[in-house]
Amino acid sequence: MLIIGAGLAGQRAALAAAQAGATVAIISKVHPVRSHSVAAAGGINAALNPEDSWESHAFDTVKGSDYLGDQDAIEVMCREAPDEILWLEHAGVTFHRNERGNLGTRAFGGASAARTYYVADITGHAILHVLYEQLMKHSTTVDRYEEWFTTDLLQDDNGRCVGAICRNLRDGHTEVFNAKATILASGGAGQAYKPTTNGLIVTGDGIAQALRIGAHLMDMEMIQYHPTTLVGNGLLITEGARGEGAQLFNANGERFMEKYAPNKLELASRDVVSRAEQTEINEGRGFPDGGIALDITKVPRRRTLEALREIVNIGRDFAGVDITREPIHIRPGQHYIMGGVKTDVDGQTTVANLYAAGEVACVSVHGGNRLGANSLLDTLIFGRRSGEHAAARALQMPMPSTPAARVSDTEREIAGIIGRDGNGRRVAALKDELGETMNQYCAVFRDAEGLAKAHEVVRRLKEEAPNAGIDDKGSVFNQDVIAAIELGYMLDVAEAIVIGAEERKESRGAQSRTDFPERNDEDWLKHINISLDGDGEPKVSYSPVTITRWQPEERKY
Ligand SMILES: Cc1cc2nc3c(=O)[nH]c(=O)nc-3n(C[C@H](O)[C@H](O)[C@H](O)COP(=O)(O)OP(=O)(O)OC[C@H]3O[C@@H](n4cnc5c(N)ncnc54)[C@H](O)[C@@H]3O)c2cc1C
Repeated sequence: MLIIGAGLAGQRAALAAAQAGATVAIISKVHPVRSHSVAAAGGINAALNPEDSWESHAFDTVKGSDYLGDQDAIEVMCREAPDEILWLEHAGVTFHRNERGNLGTRAFGGASAARTYYVADITGHAILHVLYEQLMKHSTTVDRYEEWFTTDLLQDDNGRCVGAICRNLRDGHTEVFNAKATILASGGAGQAYKPTTNGLIVTGDGIAQALRIGAHLMDMEMIQYHPTTLVGNGLLITEGARGEGAQLFNANGERFMEKYAPNKLELASRDVVSRAEQTEINEGRGFPDGGIALDITKVPRRRTLEALREIVNIGRDFAGVDITREPIHIRPGQHYIMGGVKTDVDGQTTVANLYAAGEVACVSVHGGNRLGANSLLDTLIFGRRSGEHAAARALQMPMPSTPAARVSDTEREIAGIIGRDGNGRRVAALKDELGETMNQYCAVFRDAEGLAKAHEVVRRLKEEAPNAGIDDKGSVFNQDVIAAIELGYMLDVAEAIVIGAEERKESRGAQSRTDFPERNDEDWLKHINISLDGDGEPKVSYSPVTITRWQPEERKY
């Protein structure tokens, strides 16, 4: 089996597959523990306390998704969550314990119980390192290809996925990885926006690669803006801060969430809080720097220093603010993509033998809006399920073969990028224009006019990208070449996002259309899917939302 991506989803899939007896290659364009999962801060959800229930967790998730999440998948995720937390704990994750010595929780947005398990504000870091340690136990059956970059997925004549082409970043040579089953675990696409809370490596590679070989994408219009990102650079201040008691204030000193979500206040779901903040800013009640105040001094200082120590550092180093003594200015910022490669609950995509799990995938458990601390859970539950399912299939089938000619195609394409005359605008300039455009027109609020402008810019950049200049002509760690390839992925992803947002003529979850301000279940309680037609142009289709037990109702926090 081939697993592309070694964040939480990829490593969890690799462990499950190895335990099921498969031999695995796991590839990552950076060292695995630098995968973006390492940045996850606030925690992971599970209804583990006896007073809590998986049904309550599932209902909160359905409501958070604005009823666009598929309830069969949500049930699977929430039912399996408690065992996954215990498995992690037994594997060595040092989850916070309360004064009684039991696993302790913190509150998170949109949840009716405090069910977020955490390791201070470095939860992703803690889990990722433990999974990597565990993977070492399987070193005879799991081969790690660290700092290898997948350029394309491969198909046989029947359209089945048979592996991928990858470039070794250290020396620039290219190889075919033949596989019986391939799992995409290559993360999200935040870099299509500027600013974003996502690291430079989060460029939508897997979403675009799957689209290009015929997979369907789903819910692409649903882009999460996190309510608390630093004004100026977009760095994340974890929702854990509000979970511990931090409050939001406008420039008039008003705790404005009382108006928008009188029951849950700062702990309403993210789409609701981000819209409230953006409304305050747009109506002139923000600060002159364009932000809103997050007051973490409401949390006892000792608790902040113990449980939120990373954001103490972020405040000091990136905003010059001691968050234990004064409010810090934040605003909504791009954070997460709810959409991705359409899969079933075992990770199977619409392309045979291709699986997807984690942020690259859309099961869809997040629908129109993801609840905080449900993403780490998604990566682990569906990473494991994909690993198990793909291993069971791989163990039953012969190894497929792939024409070696595909390697020379990729090598020719890369040589073409390196050989560009250098007269075009730089890759970074195109990427900036893309990110700023998406952040202007396809953000917290959207309308037809803005989306049409975004679409026009994305189309123009797609034409310009093949001529974008690069400087590095070498083969060793040529990040210029990689950036040029990644730009192509981001443009494909951005186009799918804009098309989905133009198509959905209603407001639901993260899609808030000022020209269609109401949710319209009659016409739009359905997923928007995007695939490519025979000419390689995006086309739209629909699929139904699976409803098991929770009928759509008005959403109030
Ligand atoms: C700052 C921040 C804080 C967050 N905090 C939380 C939280 O507290 N709780 C929560 O639930 N969620 C949180 N999230 C969201 C969550 O962290 C991510 O959604 C999740 O970790 C994604 O995991 P993943 O395994 O899908 O992808 P990633 O961890 O992004 O891993 C992707 C992998 O794919 C590899 N890859 C990508 N493209 C290629 C390619 N072309 N070739 C080879 N390899 C490739 C990368 O090298 C990497 O190994 C946070 C997100 C951010 C940005």
